[in-house]
Amino acid sequence: MDLMTDISTQLSQSDSARLAQVRELAQGKIRRQSIDYWNREDFAPALVAELGAAGLGAVQLEDCSHLARGLIHAELARADISLSSVVGIHNELVLGMINELGSEAQREMWLPRLGKLEAFGAFAMTEPEHGSDIAGGMSTRVRREGGEYILSGRKRWIGMGTIADFALVWAREPESGAIGAYLVESDRPGFRASKIGNKIGLRIMQNADIELDDVRIPVENKLPGATGFAAANHLLMQSRAWVGWQAAGAMLATLDVCTAYAASREQFGKPLASFQLIQQALAEIAGNASACLAMMGNIARKQEAGELTMADAALAKSTATRLARDAAAKGRALLGGNGVSSEYEMAKIFCDVEILHTYEGTYEINSLIVGRALTGTGAFV
Ligand SMILES: Cc1cc2nc3c(=O)[nH]c(=O)nc-3n(C[C@H](O)[C@H](O)[C@H](O)COP(=O)(O)OP(=O)(O)OC[C@H]3O[C@@H](n4cnc5c(N)ncnc54)[C@H](O)[C@@H]3O)c2cc1C
Repeated sequence: MDLMTDISTQLSQSDSARLAQVRELAQGKIRRQSIDYWNREDFAPALVAELGAAGLGAVQLEDCSHLARGLIHAELARADISLSSVVGIHNELVLGMINELGSEAQREMWLPRLGKLEAFGAFAMTEPEHGSDIAGGMSTRVRREGGEYILSGRKRWIGMGTIADFALVWAREPESGAIGAYLVESDRPGFRASKIGNKIGLRIMQNADIELDDVRIPVENKLPGATGFAAANHLLMQSRAWVGWQAAGAMLATLDVCTAYAASREQFGKPLASFQLIQQALAEIAGNASACLAMMGNIARKQEAGELTMADAALAKSTATRLARDAAAKGRALLGGNGVSSEYEMAKIFCDVEILHTYEGTYEINSLIVGRALTGTGAFV
């Protein structure tokens, strides 16, 4: 029984070959080597360079189906969820954002190096005082003075914030109330990023607090397509679908780790795999993964047809991360005491899944987006 092979049969030959190449890199190098970086809460430049050499800096621009792109992200998450977040946010919310909402000059300047993972950006929306209510609450300010914009405010949780060459900062013009996005190079005076330490998950991805203290940028650094929160919502709709694929990868990883452990660990003179309750746990983990892959296959079909809605993406993100959390808890228990040591991988997956549940719109907020679509009544705005 191989859940990934089942869904991969829907791919073209070239998409299948590409997926196999990514799986080989992910399972051959990324999976084992990521553990040490994760334990030390360190970025992994050597592994990121390998991902860049394999073309994963520009998955978003690849000529492949949405299903293939989703499965590539799932294979990365199956090996390591932190590095899959580095690649996913880079593609969905940095390279993808410049490609879709940037100017020709911004595309020319940044896409070639971003595509090779030789340059990095950060998507800077969340603030210390505004997370779920960021659309209405955004307090980072921007004002124009001659040929420059001046930005002030604070951002929190910003992925790659301490490493990135620039941040795509979302800010509000106080007079008009208009929200827009601005490319702020990290060496501009007044820009400070500090690492948020002691995270329980995504420990390789470096998240930052960012302070913007009257940072001046040329007017050309505004992203012309990033007008209003609707532009952000369009990006977030696609990136929530990507988190669904990450959750699918997390469940496949859980199944990989648990089936191998159940076969090798003996208690009462027999392998764990021979006990009925262990088999039930494995069946439930496989069931969660299989349901998620089928749901995500449907999301990919909608993306292909240009029919994905905010509610579809919110349903996929919330359901996939709920199932992944359930599978990870069962997996962690199945490994007994070894389930709390990242050496056995399960604890690492267990902790990383917590972040999937919270970022890109929390489980609760995504549920409320679905609830609004089902009832016609908004319960959170
Ligand atoms: C590791 C990590 C990486 C991240 N990366 C980025 C990034 O790169 N860029 C970026 O901009 N942001 C990033 N984020 C921020 C992330 O998107 C926010 O954490 C998330 O949106 C929630 O905001 P908050 O943490 O302020 O929680 P809050 O909004 O304070 O919510 C706290 C709790 O209250 C619940 N809640 C809030 N309002 C309601 C309501 N109306 N009804 C019911 N429940 C409610 C929430 O669901 C949550 O459980 C990241 C976060 C983490 C943890």
